[in-house]
Amino acid sequence: MSVAHTPLMRQYLRVKSDYPDTLLFFRMGDFYELFHDDAERAAALLDITLTKRGTSGGQPVRMAGVPYHSVDQYLARLVKLGEAVAICEQIGDADGKGPMERRVTRVVTPGTLTDAGLLDGRDSCVAAAFAPGVKGKGKGKGKQDGEKWGYAWLDIGRGVFRAGECEKERVPEVAARLRAAEILLPENAEAPFSGALKFLPDWRFDPEEGLRALESHFSVRGAGGFGLQNNPAAVAAAGVLLRYALDTQMREMSHITGVSREDDSAFVGMNPATRRALELTHSASGAKDPTLLRTMDSCRSAMGARLLAETLHHPPRDPDVIRARQDAVAELVSAVDILDSLREAIAGFADMERIAARIALFSARPRELSGLRATLNALPEFSRMLGGMKSGRLRELSSDCAPPEEARALLNRAIAENPPAVLREGGVIAAGYSAELDELRKLQGGTREYLEEIAQRERARSGLQNMRVEYNKVHGFFIEVPKAAAARAPADWQRRQTLKNAERFITPELKAHEEKVLSAEEKALALERRLFEDILRGLLSAVAQLKTAGGSAAEVDLLSCFAERARALGWRRPELAENGGEELNSFLEIEGGRHPVVEGEVEHFVANDLGLGGEGRLAVVTGPNMGGKSTFLRQAALLCVLAHCGSFVPAERMRWSGVDRIFTRVGAADDLAGGRSTFMVEMTEAADVVRNATGRSLVLLDELGRGTATYDGLALAWALAEALLEKNRCLCLFATHYFELTDFPRRGSGAFNLHVEAREHGDGIVFLHRVLSGAASRSYGLQVAKLAGVPRPVVARARKLLDEFESGAKTDSPLFAAATGPSGGALEKEAEPHPALAKLRAMNPDSLAPREALDALYELRKLAEEE
Ligand code: ATP
Repeated sequence: MSVAHTPLMRQYLRVKSDYPDTLLFFRMGDFYELFHDDAERAAALLDITLTKRGTSGGQPVRMAGVPYHSVDQYLARLVKLGEAVAICEQIGDADGKGPMERRVTRVVTPGTLTDAGLLDGRDSCVAAAFAPGVKGKGKGKGKQDGEKWGYAWLDIGRGVFRAGECEKERVPEVAARLRAAEILLPENAEAPFSGALKFLPDWRFDPEEGLRALESHFSVRGAGGFGLQNNPAAVAAAGVLLRYALDTQMREMSHITGVSREDDSAFVGMNPATRRALELTHSASGAKDPTLLRTMDSCRSAMGARLLAETLHHPPRDPDVIRARQDAVAELVSAVDILDSLREAIAGFADMERIAARIALFSARPRELSGLRATLNALPEFSRMLGGMKSGRLRELSSDCAPPEEARALLNRAIAENPPAVLREGGVIAAGYSAELDELRKLQGGTREYLEEIAQRERARSGLQNMRVEYNKVHGFFIEVPKAAAARAPADWQRRQTLKNAERFITPELKAHEEKVLSAEEKALALERRLFEDILRGLLSAVAQLKTAGGSAAEVDLLSCFAERARALGWRRPELAENGGEELNSFLEIEGGRHPVVEGEVEHFVANDLGLGGEGRLAVVTGPNMGGKSTFLRQAALLCVLAHCGSFVPAERMRWSGVDRIFTRVGAADDLAGGRSTFMVEMTEAADVVRNATGRSLVLLDELGRGTATYDGLALAWALAEALLEKNRCLCLFATHYFELTDFPRRGSGAFNLHVEAREHGDGIVFLHRVLSGAASRSYGLQVAKLAGVPRPVVARARKLLDEFESGAKTDSPLFAAATGPSGGALEKEAEPHPALAKLRAMNPDSLAPREALDALYELRKLAEEE
């Protein structure tokens, strides 16, 4: 038997059917309610109570809700978890027949946020879409190789929209570069990576569909105006993304005025593993660990901080761009006063980029407009300071940040000095802007005097000296007299409320006044709301200029941040070679280089030199564990990233030719979720390097081949080193524990040895962190193991085995024999005497001076404690 749903539930189910995969927040009075599976899901995700609300359709209705006034905080948590939420509001008033009208007014998704309450000011929020290439369509799978995919990305909160194409195999790299919070992909495309993916029907990725979306939103014909006429896949991606964004915002996005073409090869390429390993913006281990961004970010505005994070992931390759930024930074470094003034001005700037977007979306708040006004008023002076600089880039930025004058005048005229945060309570529009509003306000404002006048009159008439005329929000106007005097109230006073010690009355005159004031208040509020919308409409024409000014302030902040860091940390300007064009002329020379992040973490950082290029393109780096090899490798890459970004670098001197890509294969990571073991991950990354590194690439390989049997690993490492040297001809740092590889440079030209210095000290080891030429003498693995707390007997047994391997006693099958041969009980008994005992035995008490004896005693005790 089918049981009918209640009218409310019918309405709910109708709305819900349009948003099957999205949590639906259904407004009911002061709450947003979720029902059925949504309720269960939200209850689990948000830790809110799951209840029941009667039955509908014969089934109990599961329900969970959140109060409307704190909805932002719940939305923020949900989008962080990757959820999308459709907000269904009550529209209009209840008519007594059936449920109130309700409609979804916006959809909040992780990549399309625009609300200040949901966005992280210092981080961008980007949605991206990838569309498979068109060529391979309908053909065999093999055809897809080398196929170009289209991509697009959109930052609605800033109104930035770009599209481009890349090789299919570089799709994961582009996705990592964009750091998109949400990625749209066709349902049936093999997703080349994992992440915050959202699958949409394949037909939506059709280039014709895409073109239609662009044409209708931007009122253009063809994609030629965007330079995308020959890039159907990019058009497809852009179209899908635009439609998706429009579906979430449910209003015009007039601040997105076009899609611009992006050339993926304009940036130094880094695959996802490289970005992770270099810890550019996120640390590999824990969120709290330092990153390059954390070290670098001294930006004074959220706009600058966002640009910095974006820049670290997009180091430009164009030498002109790099030099222009360097010139700007250099000038700011030497003009401290100007640098300080610029930074101080920027610190007070409102987020012009995001406010511009919210103006276009009609969601800007009063205080954002007053903040914007202050910023626009400060811009001319800011622009003047920049205009006086020599750097071409700073002067360009100076003209870009001219304020839109009409908008500035409007804001100065229209918005009150200190408006409240929200429009609801009024007081937003400045006095003098609207005569009508001023009139209504006067009615309210004149109240005090008028009330005093009434009070005097009534006091005289009634003879009640201690009566007062008052107003409160709940009860309106009233006359209050002490209880004892209440009996003497005139007859035309009507009792309104009885308190413990007082009685409250109302008179016809007061009542009439109350009505007039209240209606004036209501009218004023409605008028303010209308005026505010008009003001937003009036600002629309300035949105584009506001975006430009915001972008320019962000860049000044970025360049000033580079300058400030350079000054504070003693960084130098790297030299980009004049003619780095020829692939094999590529080089990287660093004198006194430091790791920008580790330097801040250790007490004394040891600076090191590096020279790659010409006849020394591949360095085999050996040395003990913990000696500083990884730090040295990453330092080279980070200095390159910083230099390409236009920043100064932590080095006495750096010269380089520019690089096209940076590859790093470091550390052991597995991808168990993706079904790949540590070794598989390692080899996949190595394959990427060998297939794609060019003579202009910087390649860092740290301990390649460790995840497999020793000889397999060694053989692979050797063969890879050979290929990189002979075929790829890239600049390469190859850190390894295979001492056999130190032989490699002798066999062919182009390679050389480096080692990190360590000294044996007694039974232990001291790391000097100095990188010197030549191979390390040994690996010190056992000393490090001991340092790390591996029990003495195990270390002693290992030493014995090592001696045997090295003397050739077990050369037939050393590893097998070592693994399976008996330890001879070495692990049970102490193989060597305790070092304190050894020391004691070696001592001759008769030859010691009293002071030496005392020292020896201390040393013995220390040895005893160390064990
Ligand atoms: P493993 O082979 O175990 O990975 P490694 O040789 O790669 O070791 P790193 O991880 O680079 O060693 O460095 C170990 C520690 O030594 C770092 O965490 C850092 O504290 C310190 N260190 C590295 N390089 C330097 C340096 N140049 N100056 C001062 N301290 C350094």
